[in-house]
Amino acid sequence: MTNIFGQILDHLSAVAANWVAAQRDRLRPQSRALTDAEKMAMAPWFAAETLRKARVVLKERCPSPDFLSPELVAQLRALNVDPTIFRMETMAGITFDELIVIATWGRAMPRLRPGLLFHELVHVAQYRALGVERFMAIYIRGFGEAGYRGTPPEAQAYALTVRFERGEVFSVEEEAGRLGPGRVEGP
Ligand SMILES: [Zn+2]
Repeated sequence: MTNIFGQILDHLSAVAANWVAAQRDRLRPQSRALTDAEKMAMAPWFAAETLRKARVVLKERCPSPDFLSPELVAQLRALNVDPTIFRMETMAGITFDELIVIATWGRAMPRLRPGLLFHELVHVAQYRALGVERFMAIYIRGFGEAGYRGTPPEAQAYALTVRFERGEVFSVEEEAGRLGPGRVEGP
C-alpha cells in the first residue's frame, strides 16, 4: 500500500513487532511454563509444541506500549484513529509471542479462567504460524480497518473461544494457519 495511511500502519507494525519481542524477552525470566493440569485441559485443541513453548506471567496490569511517540499520536489522530486504542492497562491478558501476561488487578490468588487461557493460547498459536512481524502486520492493519474486535487475530481468538466454551473440539493450529500466508522464512 502506498498511501499515507498504509505507510503509517506499516511503520506502526514494525515498531509494534519490536515492542512485542522486547516485552517477551524482558518478562521471560519472571514467567513459568504451563502446569501439567493446564496442558491436559488444553491438549484437545492445541499442538503439544504450542503448550510446551507457552509461558505465563502474572502482572498487576498488562503493559502498555511505549512506542507511541508524539509524532505518531498526531499522525494517528489526523487519520481519525484513536491512539487510546493502544492502552492495554484495562485488558485481562496480552500475549507477546509465546509469553502470556495475565493481569491480577492486585489479587493475591488470581484465578486463570480456562476461557482466558484458551484465548491467549490462540494468540501463541497465531504467532507460531505467522511469526511476530507478520502477526503484527495483520493485527495492526486489521486494527486500523475494523478496531480491536474486528482485527483478524482477535476476531479469530474470540470466535474460537466461543466454540471452545461450547465444548467443540478442533485444531487451533489448523485455524491459525488460515489467518495469512504464513511465516516468512529467512534466506
Ligand atoms: Zn486477544
